[in-house]
Amino acid sequence: MTSPRTEKPVSLPGGRALGAHLPMADGMVRAVDRIADVGGSALQVFTDNPTSWRRRAEPPVEQPAFRARLAERGVGPVAIHAPYLVNLAGPEEELYERSVELLASELTVALGFDARLVNVHVGSHRGAGRELGIERLALGIERALDRATPGGPVPLVVLENSAGGGFAVGVTVEDLADIADALAGRGLGRDRVAFCLDTAHLWGAGYAISEPGGVDDLLARVDALLGPGSIAMVHLNDSKAERGSRIDRHEHLGAGRIGHAGLHRLLTHPALAGVPHYLETPGMDEGYDALNVANALRIAAGLPLEPVPPEALAARGSAGLSAPG
Ligand SMILES: [Zn+2]
Ligand SMILES: [Zn+2]
Repeated sequence: MTSPRTEKPVSLPGGRALGAHLPMADGMVRAVDRIADVGGSALQVFTDNPTSWRRRAEPPVEQPAFRARLAERGVGPVAIHAPYLVNLAGPEEELYERSVELLASELTVALGFDARLVNVHVGSHRGAGRELGIERLALGIERALDRATPGGPVPLVVLENSAGGGFAVGVTVEDLADIADALAGRGLGRDRVAFCLDTAHLWGAGYAISEPGGVDDLLARVDALLGPGSIAMVHLNDSKAERGSRIDRHEHLGAGRIGHAGLHRLLTHPALAGVPHYLETPGMDEGYDALNVANALRIAAGLPLEPVPPEALAARGSAGLSAPG
C-alpha cells in the first residue's frame, strides 16, 4: 500500500466519466484543455448567456477548433446546460412558448458543440398545480424535440431534479416517474428524454444521501420507479444547505453537509456505472475545479481529501454565470 500522498487515482470506477461545468468566457478550446489538464474527461458548458433569452445568430468562430480539441484530448461526453429561463411546467403562455423555442434552439446548436446531452431543469408549475405542470412539461419537450433539426440527429434531453423551492416539479423520484409516464404517453422513451440527478438538489429535497444506506435506498427507488438506464447524468456537488430545506447551495466536495461517506457510495454504486458525472462546485474559474476533480477521484477511491482552503469556503463570489444549479 503506497501512502496517500503518492497514490493518485486517475479515473472514477465503473466507467464513469468525470467532468465539470466550466466557463468558456476565456476561450472554448481553453475550457477543453483545462478539464483535461486537471484530470477530468468530460465537460458541461453553456452555449450562450444562461440568463438571457437572446441567442447569438451564428455559431462561435472557435467552434470547429473546440470540436477538434475535444477529439485530440479525448474529452466527452459534452453536456449543454440550458438557460435558467426555460420553464416548460408553468401556466403563462408567452413564457411557455419562449421556453419551447429556447430549448429547441439549444437542441439544435448542441450538435455544433459535439454535445449529445442537453440538460434542462424540470421547472415550476407556478401555483397551477403539479399535474398540469407535468402535462405541460411533457408537451413542451415533445414540441421542442419536433422543432429541433427535423429529420436530423437530436441530442438527448436530460431533465434535472429540483431541490424543491417555489412550486418546483421534479423534486422526488415519484415526480420524475410521473414525468416519465407523461412523456411515454407522447411516445417519448429514454432514448429521447432521460434524467439527471443533482446531488445537492437531492439533499435539499430531503434524501439522506450523506449515509451509504440513504444512497442505496434512493437508487433502489430510482431503479424501481424509473427503470435501469434512466439516469443519463449526475451533477456531483456537496451542499451548504440543510437536508430537506429545499435550498440549493452547492459546496466543494466533502466540505458540505453530504460529505465523504455518502458521496463515496454514490461514486461506487453499480447503478450509476457508465453515467457521466459533472461537478458544479464553486469557484471553477478560481482554480477550485482542480481541487474538486482531485477530491472526486479521492472520494471514489476511499482516500482522505485534499483540504479545502478556508478562503474557498468563505467565497461567495462565484454564483454567477460559471455556477449552474
Ligand atoms: Zn445541477
Ligand atoms: Zn442545473
